[in-house]
Amino acid sequence: MIRAYKCRAKLSAAGHERLGEIFRLSAELYNAGLESRIDCYRKTGEGRSYYDQCKELTKVRAELREFEEVSAIVFRGVLSRLDKAYKRFFRYGGFPRFKSSKRWRTIEINDQCWRILKREGQKLILKVKGLPRIEVKTERELPSNAFLRAIRITRKPLRTEVALSYEFPTPEGKPVSNPVGIDMGISKRLTMSDGKTVEKREIDRKRLIRLQRSVSRKKKGSNNRRKAVLLLAKEWQRLTDKERNYLHRLTSEIVKMHDFIAAEKLETKKMLGNRQLARSIQEQTWGKFAALLNEKAESAGVKMVRVDPKGTSQECSSCGATVKKNLSVRMHKCDCGLEMDRDVNAAINILHRGISVAGGKITRMVGRMGNKRGAALVRPGTVYV
Ligand SMILES: [Zn+2]
Repeated sequence: MIRAYKCRAKLSAAGHERLGEIFRLSAELYNAGLESRIDCYRKTGEGRSYYDQCKELTKVRAELREFEEVSAIVFRGVLSRLDKAYKRFFRYGGFPRFKSSKRWRTIEINDQCWRILKREGQKLILKVKGLPRIEVKTERELPSNAFLRAIRITRKPLRTEVALSYEFPTPEGKPVSNPVGIDMGISKRLTMSDGKTVEKREIDRKRLIRLQRSVSRKKKGSNNRRKAVLLLAKEWQRLTDKERNYLHRLTSEIVKMHDFIAAEKLETKKMLGNRQLARSIQEQTWGKFAALLNEKAESAGVKMVRVDPKGTSQECSSCGATVKKNLSVRMHKCDCGLEMDRDVNAAINILHRGISVAGGKITRMVGRMGNKRGAALVRPGTVYV
């Protein structure tokens, strides 16, 4: 299992410049590689593989010093990117384009060619032949039981980001005693089968709108507009960072407290068709949340399953009857006597489905959860997966 640690790189001015140089060389190589593929096809009617191009790279590096000075693996990353663009073209169409060196912003290093100069807690200093020294500090402690597989360096408008991909050994499963089902909603961000909720994310739009307006008022190409764009980018970055930190905290907490997690499979695309819901859903960043939760659960040895949520809000979690209700009805009231918050009822249904997907069963149907009158089916210690 691979987990990426994203962080900001500390670079000197000279380091920035050097990185720009590598971006330029990368774009040059990409374009030359693309041209060579087109040329070869025109002359012989045959394509060139990634391996053919790696061989060519060896020749290029023997002749041109600026390419020789940089680790070959850095440039193989460029050729692999070209190869992927070709494969995409054959599957989906869209012929690969020549790249402007100004727009090239990424270095992908997929094989070990780095030296680790220093490693301490959240801090890491790396050296790759031909690249500037890269110093990073991650938000989370770097893992000690995992193997660094790949490094990606990306230049963003305001900073240079480094993603470290660590490969973890797959942990063994364990018996569960504290399972949870999670319902992702519109009025509440999350509702869990034990009745806990996480409130909706509120974005301060006023500030964004003001900054956006300030950009559109300024003349195109002017210095002032450039400044205003930078301010807007900063605000977005701030909001994004805040959200990411929050999601990390939230998912860690959930994984720490439970040993079995059932969440819904979301068909975001279909739901995004509904324009009223679209903005709201995107803001809740469901996809990111679920991916992060999955990642953390996996590395902690906590089993997580995704289930089809269809009908979970209509089904009674106590007797299984269908109780029709539209979005405005917030309570689930069933003839069997169960009366509880509709989202908690849905979360319990999700948990039940998750347990059966995982091949487990509920052995005792007692206990109270959710609210006073609602008798939930699941109690710690009664579920075996
Ligand atoms: Zn019922």
